[in-house]
Parts: sequence; structure tokens; C-alpha cells
Amino acid sequence: MQGGVNAGPNASPVEVRWFQVAMEGAGERCGLFAIRAKGHPAAELTFNGLLALQHRGQESAGIVSGDGVRLLWQGGMGLVRQVFDASVLVSLPGYVAVGHVRYPTGGVADEGNIQPLVGSTRSGHQFALAHNGNLLTVNGLDTFAAPECPTADTHALVAALSMRSGKVVDALRAVLPAVEGAYSIAVATESEIYAARDRFGFRPLCLGQVDPDGWVVASETAAMDSIGARFIREVSPGELVAIDANGLHAERLAVSEPRPCVFEQVYFARPDSLIGGVRVADARRAMGAALAQESPARASVVVAVPETGRAAAIGYAEASGIPYADGLVRDSRIGRTFIRSASATDRQVAIRLKLSPVPEVVMGQRVALVDDSLVRASTAKIVIGMLRSVGAAEVHLRVASPPVRWPCFFGVDISDAELPARQHTLTEIARLVGADSLGYLSLPSMTNAVGGGPVCAGCFTGEYPVRVPLAKPPESAGARLGLSRHIRLIRSVSSASGTALLHPGPAGKALRAAVRAALSPARRSHRDRIPPVR
Ligand code: SF4
Repeated sequence: MQGGVNAGPNASPVEVRWFQVAMEGAGERCGLFAIRAKGHPAAELTFNGLLALQHRGQESAGIVSGDGVRLLWQGGMGLVRQVFDASVLVSLPGYVAVGHVRYPTGGVADEGNIQPLVGSTRSGHQFALAHNGNLLTVNGLDTFAAPECPTADTHALVAALSMRSGKVVDALRAVLPAVEGAYSIAVATESEIYAARDRFGFRPLCLGQVDPDGWVVASETAAMDSIGARFIREVSPGELVAIDANGLHAERLAVSEPRPCVFEQVYFARPDSLIGGVRVADARRAMGAALAQESPARASVVVAVPETGRAAAIGYAEASGIPYADGLVRDSRIGRTFIRSASATDRQVAIRLKLSPVPEVVMGQRVALVDDSLVRASTAKIVIGMLRSVGAAEVHLRVASPPVRWPCFFGVDISDAELPARQHTLTEIARLVGADSLGYLSLPSMTNAVGGGPVCAGCFTGEYPVRVPLAKPPESAGARLGLSRHIRLIRSVSSASGTALLHPGPAGKALRAAVRAALSPARRSHRDRIPPVR
């Protein structure tokens, strides 16, 4: 049996594979933060912003700062606090910074995936780019991130920008309208920042101010709160925002067709963040209240799967009149738990390190166990086993979102291989997880709880705002391998040249040559590599 250990300063994150205990299968790919604020230590503020976004990614963290003349890069594998300390931050001077935290995928942890990625336009204008989302195509090229190269899409975007002449903003204007898929990006040059969101606004992105001249871009408003910035508004879908010495300028790159990811409110986002004008905790509470109406349980106590199920559980308790109690305690002092594989035993060990049942609360009780979502159901099965082991008489599982039956193509790690709701009935899933009964929230109630506007609910309905690959056919996987090989070439040039790439000259020339070599053959064979669409 392999044992789990706690992440600590001596951990070697590059060698291990992170396993997210709190997530049972769905994982956001990343969080981003950028700031331009003269007179402020931009990298330090970005560090604080990334700490507030740590829940969106734990595999790696990176910050690029700009002091008006140059860009400087620091990053590494692991949590924000493992990568950055005072001695590292002092090496990132300047009033401009962009930072990124990345979600771990099932593949081997790879330093080549650390963002922000850096590039330079053909005219020698340098930039650093942080991306949240998943691109389906860049300039018509299939870039849907493959497991063996999870940031292939972001590399392709940086490559496409690097092939353009002119300033960075010119490259963004030229390239982004031809990009299909999900992107919220923040880009820093040595003295400016840019932010852009795809026309559907799948992934969140918001704008704030630190003082009259200081601007912040972040995945969530909670990151702005963490540095004392004032939330101004969300970056609108299809919008490009530029922040320079003259302040903020916004322009439209595409017609806005908002379909923000509803899973943000269900699970990913922090409860204290605002999305679409609704506090996430309030949305979850409303989901729990509606769930109590739609799927009542003959229970004597309501217990949450902490932490993301807590607000929904409180809403369920309030609406049902059944008392709420903390029947499961999450040990927040334990950092991310890492293990070398994700076998059922390892998952169990990892979840037991994080969650403990409280016997006094659940013994002899009929428990209504409320969770925010049920993706792979592995966590629910373990948690229900825990509750029964300390004497719960009955466990009725209530899920504050509809069944997840479809994969996500827009930056969330939901694949269709392990979704029980895809193949099993309600009764079968209840039996699978060991629950006495199971109930889900309906789709209309979920969307009402987040404000009632249009959303992407593709993983619940199978209906996506854009045409998506139906599956992963073997020929497509092979084609992606081809792209990955080229992307690795770009990476190898990047690592060989190090920070020299941040400057025009021979190294930058080598990168641009590698980029051209990478994209040209791929483009030639593009027609043969388009996966089936639905
Ligand atoms: S498919 Fe699901 S997880 Fe993906 S963007 Fe849409 S709602 Fe979010």
C-alpha cells in the first residue's frame, strides 16, 4: 500500500503526482492575476493575489514582472508559497506583473507547463501570457490540449502571437478573433497589461482598481479583496482591455454571446467571490434551498461535504427545517496531499487525511449529506463509508447540481470516461456510493440560483455553445502527438535560452524560427486532423 504524506518544504513536487483531495474529479485548469500600479510592488501584490486563487491550481505557480524596461520571470512546481518567498520576490522588481497558478492534470508534472509563458512579436516586443481555459483552435489549427501536453493550446497561442509583427496589442487584435474555445487571458509587457475573454466568457475574469491609476485583473473578485483592490466590473465576453500609462481602454474583438461556466458557482469559485453580480455563497445557498424542495429527505440532521458543499447544505437545512450540523470536519492545516498514484486505496487515504466524521453528530442519525456536485462519485463513496463507520443510521445523499454526464472542453478536467451518471440510473448510483437515497438539483433550479441568465451547462446537458470534438478518436490523438512534438521543440528552445528569450536578439530569433517550424507542418496537415464534431 502506498501511503500519503503531507506536502512540506522538503517535498519534491516535480517527482510526484498531485492528487486533489477536495476535488473528486473536476478540476479548474488555472487562475490568473495581473496588475499595473505605479508605486506599488507589483510582484508582491501578485503573490498575494495568487494565494487567494490557490484553489484554482496547485501544480505550479509563476510570476513575470515588468519595470518599464524588461520582463523578469520566476516560477516553479508546487504551491505559491513553495515557489515564492521574499528572496524570490525581490528579484521581480517593477510596477507591472502577471501571475498564474496551474491545476494538475493526470500526466507527469512538467515544468514546461508553468505559466506565464513568454514570447516576443516579430518586431521584438516582449510579452508574458497567463491563460485560463482550453483552446479548441488557434488560426484554424486543432490545439485542443492533449494529456501528454496539457498546455499545447497556450503554447500555440503564444506561438501565433509571436509570429505577428508590430506591438503586442496589434498581435492580440490579429490573433484572438481567430481563436476558438475558452480563454480568459492576462498579458504583461514591460509597462502595460492586457486582458481578454472569449466571446462566450466561459472562464471568469474581472477588473479592479488599487488607486486612481492602478488596475488589477483577476480570475475572481476574492483575489482583488486580498490586496485591498476595489472590484470595478467583469471583463466582458469578446472584450480586449488595455491598461497603460493613459489608463484603461476597452475594445471589442467579437460580438458578446455570454455563456459563463455554471460550474464556477457550483464548485470552483470561492464562496466570497462575486460572479455575474451574485455572491457565490448566496448562489450555492439558493441551490441547496431549491434542492430541499425538489428532493426532500426523511433526515434528522443535514451534514455538508466541506468546504464547497457547506453553503448548499445550509440552504438545504434552512428550507427543510432539518437542523444543520458539522458532521464532517476538514483539516485545513493539512496542505495539499500528494501521492504517487490515484488508486482507490490512495484516494481513500488522501480523503481520510483531510476529512474526519464527528461521531457525536452522526451516530444514530438519519443524515442528509449535501455535496455541491457528483462527478466521479469516488469522494461520496468514501465519505458515506466514513459516516456509516461512526454509526450513521441512514445516509441520504443530496447533490446541489444536476447529474454530470458529459465532458468539458473549456478548461475543466471532466472527461467522459468515469462519469457514473452517464451509464447508471439514480438507484444504481445510490447503490454504488452506498447511500440510502440520492437526489439531484434540476437544471432550471441551478440556473435560477445563479441569476437566470444564459450559461454554459454543457457537462450537465451535452449541449455546448460551440461545436466541440465528439470524442478522442485515435487519429486525433496521433495528430495531437504531432503538435505536442513541435510544442516540445518550442519549449526546448525556451529552456535552452532561458531569460534571453525575453530579449530581442539571437535567442529571440531562434524562438521565432522554432515557432515557424512548429506551426508550418501542422498547418499543412490540418485538414487531415480535424476530429469529428457534433
Ligand atoms: S462544460 Fe461544464 S465545466 Fe465546462 S464550461 Fe461548460 S459548465 Fe463549465
